[in-house]
Amino acid sequence: MLSDVLIVGGGVFGVEAALELHARGATVTILEPGPLPHPDASSTDISKLIRADYGTDVFYAELMEGCLDAWRARNTRFGRPLFHETGLAVLSQRPMDSSTFEGASFETLSARGHVLERLDEKTIPERLPAWQPGRYVDGYINPRGGWAESGEVVRALASEARAAGIQIREGVRVRPLSGSGPVDGVQTESGERIATSTVVVAAGAFTPALVPELGDRLAAVGQPVFHFDPPASAPLTAPRFLPWAADIGTTGWYGFPVHTGVLKIANHGRGVPVDPAAERLVPASWEPKLRAFLAGALPSVAEARVVRTRLCLYCDSFDGDFFIDAHPERRGLVVAAGGSGHAFKFAPLLGKAIADAAEGVPRDRWRRFAWRERSVARSEAARATE
Ligand SMILES: Cc1cc2nc3c(=O)[nH]c(=O)nc-3n(C[C@H](O)[C@H](O)[C@H](O)COP(=O)(O)OP(=O)(O)OC[C@H]3O[C@@H](n4cnc5c(N)ncnc54)[C@H](O)[C@@H]3O)c2cc1C
Repeated sequence: MLSDVLIVGGGVFGVEAALELHARGATVTILEPGPLPHPDASSTDISKLIRADYGTDVFYAELMEGCLDAWRARNTRFGRPLFHETGLAVLSQRPMDSSTFEGASFETLSARGHVLERLDEKTIPERLPAWQPGRYVDGYINPRGGWAESGEVVRALASEARAAGIQIREGVRVRPLSGSGPVDGVQTESGERIATSTVVVAAGAFTPALVPELGDRLAAVGQPVFHFDPPASAPLTAPRFLPWAADIGTTGWYGFPVHTGVLKIANHGRGVPVDPAAERLVPASWEPKLRAFLAGALPSVAEARVVRTRLCLYCDSFDGDFFIDAHPERRGLVVAAGGSGHAFKFAPLLGKAIADAAEGVPRDRWRRFAWRERSVARSEAARATE
């Protein structure tokens, strides 16, 4: 058991770690520059996809199977449904085969006993009438999955943390933990030194700036998010319009039913390398690209008004796997980052993975999150890399 732990960053990695380490008996403090949830944190948004659809990657599909039960239980725990198990629509413009994300996901999940609703050129417009008839000729609906109100989840977890006696210090920004020796505390931007036996750096896209030696393995990447004022006429709510991924492995486009009065669409592609501290603007080239996609796929939305855009940040690892482990040389330092644009859905297990790493409990379950040198670059199965 750890005695005291400082957690740098109050996103989903940080708050989950805090609750788990507290439950294991540690005295935990979260240091966060802004309010918690921080409006600019990657975890803070109106919605995030919750899916077990990971192409041929059984590692993540298996982890998600356990998480789905935990997400359902959280709706009771939080006292309101923040996880919406509407099902997920996976659409393909060409017949699915095992070489595509869509086909590989269908085969992998079917082989694992998931009952998926196969779609075709005829059933897609019947089942999901907002989509342009004839554009998508294949696909499926995975009933096990949907989306979560991510910002509200972090808010609920933070209030649980406070209620449990976990100290959350807002307005505190930690300075980089440069150097090579053991870590027994942090220095804040305001010059305060805070001593501790264990520091967990869970600062999302800011993590490579705080642990500079990881600059070759972790990087901040900006991704565009669009909120539209939905056309009243179109059927853009579940069950006639589900969270979706449309040829996501090649286009990157995915989106959500109307929620809080807006229709959210985002891109899970290469993204743009950014300085996380710089102003975050969605490059102008994205909106015409999106409208061109919508004109062919979701014509009712193609002319809709954009009410908000956001450049949200991934902490990209070189191989798309999370980076959750104790530093091999620097005693007292643990890194929990590398969400690579797909970690929120694993919230129910992130706390355990981080606490195990902090306590030095090796678990085969987290083998792909272990500390590692840079090697072959690759991305998560659904990520469009062209
Ligand atoms: C556009 C977009 C869409 C996504 N969609 C999905 C999805 O559909 N499904 C899914 O599963 N995942 C999705 N993700 C990924 C997911 O949101 C992230 O992997 C996850 O939220 C990362 O959490 P985090 O705690 O590492 O980072 P963050 O949530 O960014 O939290 C990091 C925290 O650290 C704080 N911090 C920064 N610097 C310092 C410092 N110096 N000192 C103290 N604190 C500091 C920040 O203020 C912040 O609150 C998406 C991400 C983005 C950007």
